[in-house]
Amino acid sequence: MTRVFNFSAGPAALPEPVLRQAAEEMLDWHGSGMSVMEMSHRGKEFIAIHAEAESLLRELLGVPVNYKVLFLQGGAIGENAIVPMNLLRGHTGADYVNTGEWSKKSIKEAKKYCAVNVAASAEASNFTCVPKQSEWKLDPNAAYVHICSNETIGGVEYHWTPGTGDVPLVADMSSNIMSRPVDVSRYGLIYGGAQKNIGPAGATIVIVRDDLLGKALPITPSAFDYKQQADNDSMFNTPATYSIYIAGLVFRWIKAQGGLSAMEVHNRMKAALIYDYLDTTTFYSNPVAREDRSLMNVPFKLKDEALDDAFLKGAQARGMVQLKGHRSVGGMRASIYNAMPVEGVKALVAYMKEFEASHG
Ligand SMILES: *Cc1c(COP(=O)(O)O)cnc(C)c1O
Repeated sequence: MTRVFNFSAGPAALPEPVLRQAAEEMLDWHGSGMSVMEMSHRGKEFIAIHAEAESLLRELLGVPVNYKVLFLQGGAIGENAIVPMNLLRGHTGADYVNTGEWSKKSIKEAKKYCAVNVAASAEASNFTCVPKQSEWKLDPNAAYVHICSNETIGGVEYHWTPGTGDVPLVADMSSNIMSRPVDVSRYGLIYGGAQKNIGPAGATIVIVRDDLLGKALPITPSAFDYKQQADNDSMFNTPATYSIYIAGLVFRWIKAQGGLSAMEVHNRMKAALIYDYLDTTTFYSNPVAREDRSLMNVPFKLKDEALDDAFLKGAQARGMVQLKGHRSVGGMRASIYNAMPVEGVKALVAYMKEFEASHG
């Protein structure tokens, strides 16, 4: 068996010990005689799996007691609609900060449900930075302020937490959740799909302050009404059981590594290996402002895009896959989530240097 270094932006690499444990438990989970996939979500086995996943998530992120943790479905794109349906609470509009492709998708979807005030936009810089808070034009009557904490395509990340006063801060954290500690109490709601840094696609994590619940628009589908899901421990409908089980194993793995502070140290070290090299060369480039560079997704371009295919082929031959950039921006992108070992990043940088030496 050969495992590659998988730089996919998502669904993304999972920690190998998690996959091994899942393989061992595939046919018979803890003497139950069943795979987790075959269990009733209301049986005692799965209830225990679900409870452990939630309690580990709470412990790792330090989720305060007045927040609900929900395991839903529909992904972050689903949440782009579900958030306004639940959080408008009688307000007519919401503030959105536009830092790139995922922000734009959130804005477009929210416009179906409310007036969107784009409080700040990085469009003028072609989405290569996070607009400074001093430039934000927040509406005091907004239902919430929405940000994308890590733009997975553009490689732009917030390394600070915006202040929004009494207006709840909402963050799409799909691609940097669990990569470092977060002060959850600064947010009204955090959401993200599992498939970047948590587990397999299918589960969507929502962490929401409980005073924001219970005022969903009447048209909100019941399965997407946070209050109904919270009252039913995320089992108003059948949850993504297997994804939640794997997420729980990933949380255990993170805890065994030393928790989110240890993850941050590891992630900073990995990202620095690539950015430090990018800063020494003109053969490759990354357009993002230094202070806003993503620790999770590193987009880069070759000086001559005619070399892109040769670069990707050579990477593949060396066991490094999924480096092609998003179709909307081209170039390359190395996604280096928690599960990417430092060896993978070292191999990539060594290959980038080798390729520059032979093609530069
Ligand atoms: C991947 C991603 C999404 C899309 O998530 P889906 O699970 O496909 O809905 C949204 N936002 C961000 C920041 C992402 O990285």
